[in-house]
Amino acid sequence: MVHVLIIEDDPGIRTALTRALQARGHAVDSAPDGLGGLQSLLTQEPEAVILDLGLPDVSGERLLGMIRAASAVPVIVATARDDEDLIVKLLDAGADDYVVKPYDPAQLEARVRAVLRRAGGPEDEQRSVAVTVGGLTVDPARRTAEIDGRPLDLTRLEFDVLAYLAQNPGRVVSRKELLREVWQRTDSARTVDVHLSWLRRKLGDDPESPRFLHVHRGVGIMLEDARAGSA
Ligand code: CA
Repeated sequence: MVHVLIIEDDPGIRTALTRALQARGHAVDSAPDGLGGLQSLLTQEPEAVILDLGLPDVSGERLLGMIRAASAVPVIVATARDDEDLIVKLLDAGADDYVVKPYDPAQLEARVRAVLRRAGGPEDEQRSVAVTVGGLTVDPARRTAEIDGRPLDLTRLEFDVLAYLAQNPGRVVSRKELLREVWQRTDSARTVDVHLSWLRRKLGDDPESPRFLHVHRGVGIMLEDARAGSA
């Protein structure tokens, strides 16, 4: 059971989604506007938030910023527009995932489970062993990563991408695989590219001559420490 907060002004969607998630055994709170949603978030402390972008009182983007200022709760944005620029912007602003309307409740439930899994449940035991790739150390249990002893400041998604690559060192991982394993979805390979470029910046990699993230054009990406020789 997951405690979900739905912030959605359309009463039809709100009611249908509440019923569908309740029928699947989840606890659901809902709010018809942004400020009501923010209040519910603070008082009810849900485990995940489904946020409609088109709200009457405050824009979804602005509300997302307010939610992020108050809480690290996973947020799934529901948008009527399948617009990659907007989606990338929202992910950058702290959304964990998105669904495009109209979506069905089963799809949304799968997204909720995926973000909770990424947010780090205690069930991820076999993935909790720290991995070292040359000068890079990734510790999934503590959700920390460092290069040559210097800690990296990564977002949740950046960490998950890096951890997945670190668990597959020296192997070319396709964007498709990253989408499936980290995002738990199959569309929007550009999202992967955007996050990889942010991750590259934080790793201090020179795109022309990278130390860690090696792009194999048309195939995928491989994590390897170029300074660690052939180890
Ligand atoms: Ca709306």
